[in-house]
Amino acid sequence: MRSTMMDVALTTAGILRHGSTVHGAATVRTLQPDGSVKVGTFAEVGRRSAQLANALRECGVTGDDRVATFMWNNQEHVEAYCAVPSMGAVLHTLNLRLTADQIIYIANHADDQVVIVDGSVVPLLAPVLPQLAAVHTVVVTGGVDLTPLRRDGLTVVGYEDFIAGQPETFDWPDLDERSAAAMCYTSGTTGNPKGVAYSHRSTYLHSMAACAADGLRVSSDDRVLAIVPMFHANAWGLVYAALMAGADLLMPERFLQAEPLVRLIDSEKPTIAGAVPTIWNDVLHFLEAHPSFDVTSLDLVACGGSAVPLHLMQEFEEKYGINVVQAWGMTETSPLASIARPSTSLDADEQWRLRATQGRPVAGVELRIVDDEGHDLPHDDKSVGEIQVRGPWITGSYVGEEADDEKFHEGWLRTGDVGRIDEHSFVTLTDRTKDVIKSGGEWISSVELELLLAGHPDVLEASVIGVPDEKWQERPLAAIVVRDGREPSPEDLRRFLDGKVAKWWLPERWCFVSEVPKTSVGKFDKKRLRALHADGELSVVEI
Ligand code: ADP
Repeated sequence: MRSTMMDVALTTAGILRHGSTVHGAATVRTLQPDGSVKVGTFAEVGRRSAQLANALRECGVTGDDRVATFMWNNQEHVEAYCAVPSMGAVLHTLNLRLTADQIIYIANHADDQVVIVDGSVVPLLAPVLPQLAAVHTVVVTGGVDLTPLRRDGLTVVGYEDFIAGQPETFDWPDLDERSAAAMCYTSGTTGNPKGVAYSHRSTYLHSMAACAADGLRVSSDDRVLAIVPMFHANAWGLVYAALMAGADLLMPERFLQAEPLVRLIDSEKPTIAGAVPTIWNDVLHFLEAHPSFDVTSLDLVACGGSAVPLHLMQEFEEKYGINVVQAWGMTETSPLASIARPSTSLDADEQWRLRATQGRPVAGVELRIVDDEGHDLPHDDKSVGEIQVRGPWITGSYVGEEADDEKFHEGWLRTGDVGRIDEHSFVTLTDRTKDVIKSGGEWISSVELELLLAGHPDVLEASVIGVPDEKWQERPLAAIVVRDGREPSPEDLRRFLDGKVAKWWLPERWCFVSEVPKTSVGKFDKKRLRALHADGELSVVEI
């Protein structure tokens, strides 16, 4: 039997129309260099998005042309998020923290034709621009000097001049909801970066999952601080979710250090925020030293991208009444795939135990674990295997590549994450396949050791990698950043772990570093740490 429902496509234009009319009074608030906040309403974003789409059409953007952004989180970026996909073109958010070579590779691979760039990062774009083969137009925000970008055959124009005088409405086309809306590249820790193309449908459904009560529960009563960059996995869906829900969007621009963030929270009173654990760790330490700031407006803090230490969640909750919620996902999963929100009817210890996991899949996403031969493993919280995932906002291939067995398995995405699942579907991620430490044929979870070490009062950061060992093949090496004024010895730290993990997990190799190297999205860069070790650049103490 055919359904009697209307066949209305799920598109970003629908999100834009809804946000800019039903929630026209909600605001995008962007932090300025002088600490003030520039405010634009969703209605204004709607009008300016239409102007941007008209201007892009006029400069030749048609069909599924790619329009790249090279921008921090700000109102213009929100306008690009709205205008580009809604007009049928494809928004490609370039990660401006990548190396020049990576940016050139990615922009050419995506066939970017227009780049919208923040004035503040023109110096990063200028040197690579001559090598971006298909780019014909560069649109620059912030009223800066355009001379460094100018060259023959390239149109370079200020953002406000570009949209000025354009009509404030646009006849958003009827699009196939399965066509590409936006693209994002994985950071390619091994091999070349791979492109993921989100569809209108996947974006729409993912945004609804982000709004859901047991998702990030974004509502019209909220003000959402999107610290996670808009070039990192779709800003975790926060932008479209806010437009759908009518929540204010608070944008920190390029000011992602603890101090400006805390000042912004203190003055603008967001209720929801999203960022990786390293940022929340910095915020916590800043607050310890500057207790006069008030961050208690925050109710729900979404945290993910790497494992969230339990003590971080507990400190936020105990000191500031903030509910830090762990979520798991990846660029390939839009990214929200699972979230750790156990029932509040459970006793406190059980809730904490479950909140330290990567959570349960959100509706729409299925998870399973498989062994090396690809067989399903039971959900008994003991069997450990590769996590595989599928669902309407999970990528089924990479741009320009056939779906191969290395990345996909019987219609499931192979995540490269290793973990276990309990009978209630809570997932505990123990490692990434490439980071797991293989000691004497058994696996040691680098993540578990890191999380425990991060709970030591003298430790600011701890990262654990596997290093070659003659007898055991690999053994853990713990790289530790100590808190100011503290001097724990390797023996102290080892004693701290003793009894919390199997004896043979205890690292005998330790090094103290001033900082753990980070990736472009703020995660521990273990590849770099392994390279530093291989080059003899870490002074390792063996106990
Ligand atoms: P990258 O490969 O650059 O890290 P992503 O940002 O897509 O790219 O990262 C996805 C990976 O981040 C996941 O496969 C997983 O290893 C890790 N990750 C994400 N969320 C969590 C979490 N809550 N706990 C542990 N690891 C996480």
